Amino acid sequence: MVVNINACNIYSAMVHANCQNNRGGNQEGGYYTTHNQDRDQFGQKGDFITSPEISQIFGELLGIWLVAEWMAQGKKSTGVEILEMGPGRGTLMDDMLRTIRNFKPLASSIEAIYLVEASPSLRNQQKQLLCGDASMEEIEIGFRSRSKYSNFPVIWCEDIRLVPNDPTKTPFIFAHEFFDALPIHAFQSVAPAPNPPTSIQGLNGQPIPFSTPPTAHSRIPQWRELVVTPTPPLIDISTPSPTPADPQPDFQLSLAKASTPSSLVLPETSPRYKALKPLPGSVIEISPEAQSYAAEFARRIGGSPKSPKPAPTGAALILDYGPLDTIPTSTLRGIRAHTLVSPFTMPGKVDLSADVDFVALAEAATGASEAVEVIGPVEQGGWLVGMGVRERGEMLCQGNGGEGRKGEIRRGVERLVERGGGGMGRLYKVMAIVPEGRTGRGIVGFGGDVDV
Ligand code: SAH
Repeated sequence: MVVNINACNIYSAMVHANCQNNRGGNQEGGYYTTHNQDRDQFGQKGDFITSPEISQIFGELLGIWLVAEWMAQGKKSTGVEILEMGPGRGTLMDDMLRTIRNFKPLASSIEAIYLVEASPSLRNQQKQLLCGDASMEEIEIGFRSRSKYSNFPVIWCEDIRLVPNDPTKTPFIFAHEFFDALPIHAFQSVAPAPNPPTSIQGLNGQPIPFSTPPTAHSRIPQWRELVVTPTPPLIDISTPSPTPADPQPDFQLSLAKASTPSSLVLPETSPRYKALKPLPGSVIEISPEAQSYAAEFARRIGGSPKSPKPAPTGAALILDYGPLDTIPTSTLRGIRAHTLVSPFTMPGKVDLSADVDFVALAEAATGASEAVEVIGPVEQGGWLVGMGVRERGEMLCQGNGGEGRKGEIRRGVERLVERGGGGMGRLYKVMAIVPEGRTGRGIVGFGGDVDV
């Protein structure tokens, strides 16, 4: 059993099950932090496949987006840094860097690549792909090696707060399928008891009145946290025990019986949550960690009172799944072998994820820095088509003779843009955080043209 407490919130259960080391624990038991000797998490034989693993064009277009933004922001000749959160196998960064090296003035302006990664085994895979045989040394903030494409350093940190924040630099930040892996809290609005008790029954059967009458507070709906509790053992011994193929999860979600510190604070942080409180039964998911990452992106791009920037520079691109503007509700899921499973089976062996609340990220970003603005989210399909995914696919086909390979390229493109039947083109969204004033001039992929 990995989660060994009687009731914990989903947040701590997800921290434990996905990335235990990120919260100062040891590195045992987390889904991403465990090195699965026998199975790879990514790809057909793993648990899930991500866009950069489906087609190289995905990373190439993100590289082009960076080039376009760098051009639009005055082609800085020094101080460019590329940051990626949760780079997986490193495929996306590799495809981006291969593309960027064709734009020599940009390539020579890059001072460092920072990769925020919690998993030591994925860090090693990323190092192999991005740096080849170059040596890797341990440094104060993490690990450092050298890019195989150029002489700039590639630096790994476990948390974005370890990445140096120099206001003279221009950070381009990418997060693909990172935010959905971050832990959430879930809350449900609960109707008040119809007649709140005013007394309890004494031993002699006589009511003992409460010295304080019910407050107005107890007559309006309250947020209650959904907590992870052990599944009660089966009581009826005649009930057949669950078959091994369908084991009963060790844990389940239950409504907390009383307010928790989180339920008193988090749902009061945005008018979006407050609007749902009067509607009993509403369920909302909030990820404070996701919001703090978005706020950190914004401060690095736009500066903040504590770390002012001469002028806002850089950009962040967030790609993930989640609704366009609503608050995610009951979306916590487990994914194993490309199948949805209970998030509470096999803790640490199942990928846990939850829909990303893009509006909450946008609010966190604009709340953290006055000098940024947010564009999107828009659906991934339209964004990729606007970035020229089909044209690039056809170009790639021309250079790759075999019919088999051409079919593979075209199928990959269609899978990324497909909008019907829960297709990736509709499910996934793209949102950017950019310096204030940028959106007025149009941004590639969000309706703008390349600004040369
Ligand atoms: N971006 C990649 C991988 C997505 S899987 C792709 O699209 O293929 C999620 C990635 O985020 C993994 O690399 C995982 O190890 C990392 N990750 C998850 N939670 C993290 C956390 N709290 N801190 C740092 N990295 C984390």
